[in-house]
Amino acid sequence: MRKNIVAGNWKMNKNLQEGIALAKELNEVLTADKPNCDVIICTPFIHLASVTPIVDKNIIGVGAENCADKASGAYTGEVSAEMVASTGAQYVILGHSERRAYYHETVEILEEKVKLALANNLKPIFCIGEVLEEREANKQNEVVEAQLASVFSLSAEDFSKVILAYEPVWAIGTGKTATPEQAQEIHAHIRSLVAAKYGQEVADNTSILYGGSCKPSNAKELFANPDVDGGLIGGAALKAADFKGIIDAFK
Ligand code: PGA
Repeated sequence: MRKNIVAGNWKMNKNLQEGIALAKELNEVLTADKPNCDVIICTPFIHLASVTPIVDKNIIGVGAENCADKASGAYTGEVSAEMVASTGAQYVILGHSERRAYYHETVEILEEKVKLALANNLKPIFCIGEVLEEREANKQNEVVEAQLASVFSLSAEDFSKVILAYEPVWAIGTGKTATPEQAQEIHAHIRSLVAAKYGQEVADNTSILYGGSCKPSNAKELFANPDVDGGLIGGAALKAADFKGIIDAFK
């Protein structure tokens, strides 16, 4: 059966020293009081090589927040999936709405990134979600379906390594959370799309995380929904106590 997962997305926060300090603190807190779910921290590229040896691999997985859509070569400033994997990281967030909006990442670009991540043994945390106008026009179901095209070209075997994250853009960093009912409704829809493509067994084994202003005070009611398998956490992942509070929603 699928795993419950709480993943942190540090975004462009924390310098190297601050990031190391947060990873250490989190490792201490979670070794002392073991989580009842998988925990992942996704950090800026420059933190990866320092953070992976600090954390207990059996408790905390480490991931990047992005990778290049090319394998290697003359792409100044880019970081490849192979480079990410060489730090010991095991995951990579792909398709985050900030990347889609500010860096113009398309379905096709994301398909390349997903393939390169998998070819380098990185598990993609693949983000989908609609913007406010799309939600107001009741278009969220078709929006996520179109975004899923980047991962629906995979074989069933490869797709089974993908973690999905539904993040309504109107809820990210805004303090506005989807209601538990809204989250359950679209998570169930996403799972039905996976079932239609890969069959019920693959769908039942796919973890679908919720993201968008998730915090200790609302995590429990969000995660209590049958099709919400944990969260992708931005702001509340920047303090060990808040992140732990969300992880504890599974206790
Ligand atoms: P937030 O971000 O928790 O700060 O809303 C979530 C995300 O963007 O992954």
